[in-house]
Amino acid sequence: MKTKKQNADFLHVGRKLLDWYKIHGRDLPFRKTSDPYKIWICEIIFQQTRIEQGLNHYNNFIQRFPDLKTLAAAENDEVLLYWKGLGYYSRALNLHKAAHQIMTEYKGVFPQEYDDILRLKGVGKYTAAAISSICFGKKIPAVDGNFYRVLSRVFADDFDVSKSKAFDYFSDLALKAMPENEAGTFNEAMMDLGSEICKPKNPLCENCPLNEDCLAFNLGKIQDFPVKTKKTKPTDLALQYSFVEFEGEFLIKQRGDDFIWKKLYEFPIEVPKEWNAFITRQKTVLHKLTHKNLSIVINHIVVESREMMEIFADENGFMIVNEEEAHQKSFPKPLENYLADRFKSKL
Ligand code: SF4
Repeated sequence: MKTKKQNADFLHVGRKLLDWYKIHGRDLPFRKTSDPYKIWICEIIFQQTRIEQGLNHYNNFIQRFPDLKTLAAAENDEVLLYWKGLGYYSRALNLHKAAHQIMTEYKGVFPQEYDDILRLKGVGKYTAAAISSICFGKKIPAVDGNFYRVLSRVFADDFDVSKSKAFDYFSDLALKAMPENEAGTFNEAMMDLGSEICKPKNPLCENCPLNEDCLAFNLGKIQDFPVKTKKTKPTDLALQYSFVEFEGEFLIKQRGDDFIWKKLYEFPIEVPKEWNAFITRQKTVLHKLTHKNLSIVINHIVVESREMMEIFADENGFMIVNEEEAHQKSFPKPLENYLADRFKSKL
């Protein structure tokens, strides 16, 4: 149990954070709006990308899909195309599904309640909290890695952030530090402090507005926080593809909804045995996913006629495309790199 004095300390830290943010907060395009659609898009994009890298993607995405209606009406392929370069394509597919969900279940009006926002496809507690607080003023902390890091350091709190209860635990801590009617600003301030000052490695404590109060800093124990037990090791997975081409055209097929790389395009996995005679070279690509280390062998096969590809495409649901047509599709990163290398241009 925290004492009354400690609760006042929490609030004191929260106020200092807000004072700092009002002067030093980043001037970002999505900070100028409280449109839940735009905040939602930016929260999903910036979950996986640094602000500097993701800004162009965000601007392009919003320019093409300025509102829910436009996004819901778009084709899957086009949404994926605008996600190109961001990775985690399942997030783009979920955005698209959630746009449909809002159109049908909420008559096209973005829901305001935290629980309703949380029900949207692909929206987790963090995103629901960010939207609720920034757009609708709900007093809900948007707890993410920044919160874990800043709060555990400031209060020298050794709660293990890899535990499933960490979210609720740090939400409670954050609530105590969150001044009334400032939830959205507080959440944004924590994001900025965590990414600009209280960085995972080499935090800039000398410039930190909380350094007088920060227990970890004053005890010289910054590297001890946050406490995190080791993650389980990713497993190895071997894949084999055949890049089958004839005179600059090649075979691709859209993946299904299961397993990794949902709805992205890929090369054939199995080809007729006789085609082994046409393998011109082989390349092994290593690629890391969150829980898997992939080792992908890609056989480059140059068949003797277009007809050979046509028969295969008809029987196995593939399509034949050229380089330009492939530009309009989205591929898993290792295959995209392979194509870029093959055509020596950025796909
Ligand atoms: S003083 Fe250092 S460790 Fe403490 S909150 Fe600030 S940047 Fe983080």
